[in-house]
Amino acid sequence: MNNSLMIKNARFIVTCDDEDNLYENTNILINDGVITYIGKNHCEADETIDASNMIVYPGLINTHHHLYQTFSRNLPQVQSMELFPWLKTLYEIWKNLNEEVVYYSSLTGLGELLKTGCTTCFDHHYVFPNDNGTNLLDSQFEAAKLLGIRMHAARGSMDLGVKDGGLPPNSVVQEVEAILKDSEAAIKKHHNANLYSMNQVVLAPCSPFSVSGTLMKESAALARKQGVRLHTHLAETKDEETYTLSTLGLRPLEYMESLGWIGPDVWFAHGIYFNDQELELLAKTRTGVAHCPISNMKLSSGVARIPEMLSLNIPVGLAVDGSASNDGSNLLEEMRVCYLLHRLQSSQKAPSGYDILKIATNGGARLLGRSDIGSLKLNMAADLFMINMNKINLVGTQLDPKSLLSTVGYKGNVDYTIVNGKIVVKEGMLTGIDEEAVVEGANKAFIKYLEH
Ligand code: ZN
Repeated sequence: MNNSLMIKNARFIVTCDDEDNLYENTNILINDGVITYIGKNHCEADETIDASNMIVYPGLINTHHHLYQTFSRNLPQVQSMELFPWLKTLYEIWKNLNEEVVYYSSLTGLGELLKTGCTTCFDHHYVFPNDNGTNLLDSQFEAAKLLGIRMHAARGSMDLGVKDGGLPPNSVVQEVEAILKDSEAAIKKHHNANLYSMNQVVLAPCSPFSVSGTLMKESAALARKQGVRLHTHLAETKDEETYTLSTLGLRPLEYMESLGWIGPDVWFAHGIYFNDQELELLAKTRTGVAHCPISNMKLSSGVARIPEMLSLNIPVGLAVDGSASNDGSNLLEEMRVCYLLHRLQSSQKAPSGYDILKIATNGGARLLGRSDIGSLKLNMAADLFMINMNKINLVGTQLDPKSLLSTVGYKGNVDYTIVNGKIVVKEGMLTGIDEEAVVEGANKAFIKYLEH
């Protein structure tokens, strides 16, 4: 069925394209989910949105999340902890995860992302208690489909429990063979590698301190055989560096390199503790980094060397990380914090407001290996969001729409979010679900989970 949508007479269109074009009073025509025209001519369409007061931005891309943690945020007992003790405390809650918790926490986190301009989410799920493999991924994809967000989901994994010198309790780790079998099943069931794909699968063992070298190596081999991407946490804390140095005699990146975990199909979450040589290696091999400034600040982990990474053209994307260390799913907030953090840390070498928008759009697409999202131009998927400028908190901000989201910051819900040509947020509300009913269901599921 042919389905067309016209965004009429947009006040500004921030394209984030290769020429950094900014259009004024311009139309966008979308046919079957794809941008087919940008210009001043009038176009006929099935549906038209008057955008004469709107700024249009490319949809934001979240490159690292743990949606299940939406149900372990704001927990009093972990508020002052750093990563290792924080994880050990939370695993005692996470071992009770089930399909209902994953479904409702995904609806909650993905819903907030869409309402704040994110159109593609990568989720790193790595806790599979009781061998509850693909079922949990099924729940995530079901929630994503209902909301209409573009979803990249990880079949994550852990096999190194306390008994083998790892961090997680033995009840949440699995055998390598079971993990690989389930990873293959998840790829077969959910991964779509086509242009404009709405669902992709990534293999993502959790971290060097919860995963054996064998599982890392075997996951890389399977991912490359199946043509899917690889992701893990790396160089997040000094504790991790001490762990790999003392148990393996290698720095975290050296260890990953020895396992074949480097290259343009790999991206790491955090990447704070890389030295100069390691940054050069990442640049040479085009290995990427998902930057999570709020989580890094919350867990007192450190500040990633983003200005150096950008100057070396290392692929960098932005991410909210799990809600146990954020405690929300709002990439607009992440952009502003990112801007301020690097201003404080690096002054004139810090990325500009517009640089950060490009990290959150182009950069994210690069990490996920997508050439069809991340900017607004012909033949790209119609993933975008719009903000009405006629609001008191935006008066006087129109001089620089490209930097606005990072410098001024935008608080609250966006007016429209469109994914693959479909309106999924209209006047600030999700169109795919009854929000009130989901809030009620999610709160019930949350209470049941925490009362275990
Ligand atoms: Zn994480």
